[in-house]
Amino acid sequence: MKKLVLAEKPSVGRELASVLGCINRGKYLEGPSYVVTWALGHLVTLCPPDSYGEKYRRWSLGNLPMLPEVLDTMVIEKTKDQFELVKSLLDRDDIESVVIATDAGREGELVARWILKQAECTKKTERLWISSQTESAIRQGFENLKDGKDYDNLYYAAESRSYADWYIGFNVSRAMSCHFDSRLSAGRVQTPTLALITEREDEIESFAGKFYWTIRADFGRFKASYYTEENTVKIQDEEKANSLYTSLKGKTGKVVSVKKVSKTEKPPLAYDLTELQRDANMILGFSAKQTLDTLQRLYEVHKIVTYPRTDSRYITDDIVPTFSERLAALKNTDFAPLCPAVTDIRADLTRLVNNAMVSDHHALLPTEQPVDVSKLSFEEKQLWELVISRFLETLSDDYEYSTTTVEIDVEGCLFSARMTMPDKQGWRDITRRMGRRFSTSVEDDSEFGLYGLKEGSEVTVNDVELKRFATMPPQRYTEADLLYAMEHAGRLVDDSELRKRLENGLGTPATRADIIEKLIQNNCMERKDGFLVPTAKGRELVRLVPPQLKSAELTGQWEKRLYEISGGKESEKPFIEDIKKNAADLVKEVVANRDTYDPTRMGDPKHVCPFCAWPMAKVLDAEGRVHYVCQRFSCGYEEMIIKKQIKDKVLLAKSVVKESHYRRAERKTEKTERSFGSDSGNGGGTFADFIRASEERKKGRKH
Ligand SMILES: [Zn+2]
Repeated sequence: MKKLVLAEKPSVGRELASVLGCINRGKYLEGPSYVVTWALGHLVTLCPPDSYGEKYRRWSLGNLPMLPEVLDTMVIEKTKDQFELVKSLLDRDDIESVVIATDAGREGELVARWILKQAECTKKTERLWISSQTESAIRQGFENLKDGKDYDNLYYAAESRSYADWYIGFNVSRAMSCHFDSRLSAGRVQTPTLALITEREDEIESFAGKFYWTIRADFGRFKASYYTEENTVKIQDEEKANSLYTSLKGKTGKVVSVKKVSKTEKPPLAYDLTELQRDANMILGFSAKQTLDTLQRLYEVHKIVTYPRTDSRYITDDIVPTFSERLAALKNTDFAPLCPAVTDIRADLTRLVNNAMVSDHHALLPTEQPVDVSKLSFEEKQLWELVISRFLETLSDDYEYSTTTVEIDVEGCLFSARMTMPDKQGWRDITRRMGRRFSTSVEDDSEFGLYGLKEGSEVTVNDVELKRFATMPPQRYTEADLLYAMEHAGRLVDDSELRKRLENGLGTPATRADIIEKLIQNNCMERKDGFLVPTAKGRELVRLVPPQLKSAELTGQWEKRLYEISGGKESEKPFIEDIKKNAADLVKEVVANRDTYDPTRMGDPKHVCPFCAWPMAKVLDAEGRVHYVCQRFSCGYEEMIIKKQIKDKVLLAKSVVKESHYRRAERKTEKTERSFGSDSGNGGGTFADFIRASEERKKGRKH
């Protein structure tokens, strides 16, 4: 008898197969004890609303809320063949059990469980749970297969997540689209995320700028800044700034205090996905998705980093003995001279090693697979360097520095200057020696001329510098900022009890990049010069959506309950019942909204619907072709731009994908008029009459 191994995708399946000694059998791999096959991400999904009855085929407010008692699954049409293959292998008589080897996380569990459910497989299951893709990790994983039942709660949480998204997403999106007659798609995580972006835009717009002034005195050896009575360098009053500027030059001051403070800064924790996405965005300019994709290749193809979709920045104590192998794997890279010998690790590891802070996967680490940098693409190398730098930092000493602050009194005016000097570079040495710049290292206003100054020394103001600044509006979000805001959505919540429950933030680390991409695809926001900017449509959507759905609170509460379900502390049923109730309430709230969607707020759109003059949104289809979709829901007109190559010229042509509802209605009347033309009383049924009638209708529509 053999075991069937179900991987998440082909590349991983082939890796597992090679370790298990399986050989190619065409569409799957087989060896003496294992058969290896794979999904292609999800092969099974939840049925759309129309499969729960004819009435749901039509989008109408009368049919809402849609709350089918049980949600069914179905095979995804596009990857149907792969599902059939997996099913045929599951059904084989010589297969006694299944090893679930999909991604070791909530969504991966769902991929496998839905396939087994759809295939009506009742064979025993085991779970492969590994954090790296190296040969030894795979081998060890197979030696320690877990009982599949141990992951039931994880499956329930995953399933609950998908049900919640179905009930909320379909109901609210349909309610919004019908009620406001505009294509609006809302969702459990995407809407509060979008609200973060639009609220920032509102703040920027309502921002009223002011001027302030600063004064710096040049004392010859050093410069110092003037501090107001409120202990800030910002002088709000222009007259006061001017009078200080003219009166201080040439005056003598006295050093009133010299204070030296020594400080230490502990090494940072290792990376989890979100933290790496943020740093990669800030330092390398990567998008969140680009980081995840690149990291996935480092994990799967090169096998030199551990499991990417982790939300932990800690490691478990059983990792510590593996440091030597992980460091040895770097010996042919530029990092070699920086790798401490294991006996020489001087870091205090008590913070990093924390079993309680690791749930599914530990922080991102290098694996023990020797690294050949020449095999990495430029992108991969850059990201890998970040991961390694951080790993080496966590194994390094504290950074120690001292700050000297000098205060000078010039005729009752207080000036202050500061000097920061590193005493021991510690973990900061890693990035310093790798030549990467960190803005937080030595402070910019360091005045090395402060050496040797003593209390009581007299100094003279040689010159005075007056500068005017304007207060700045809050900045738009970069992807790094947004990831941070999503992760810490709890910070925006006032209720401290709730804040605690919101620790998980908006979405999960694994899904945050997708949410950002989805909002861009749906024309709710766009990337502009490295910032995320809401579109007019996105702002209208947030303006009209029920307030609950745009707050982080509701989503945070749900996320927290999903977490409880995965830990076996809550069951699926009451959660789903609450979600259904919520969906119904949200629909009611949408319908009760007396506001209307305002297409003119969309600015001056480049593309306007030829039938109803509403703005059209640009969308890309799966093949990357440009579509323009009328945003008026009841119109529905959609056209596609097709490229035609004629000899050496590329011509653009339009092709109607979906006809406007208005055009369809028009044709219907035309037809009726044609067949009953002679009786219509419009005077005959000639072709000319028909054209005239049609023209008049068009005119009527324009007014
Ligand atoms: Zn239209």
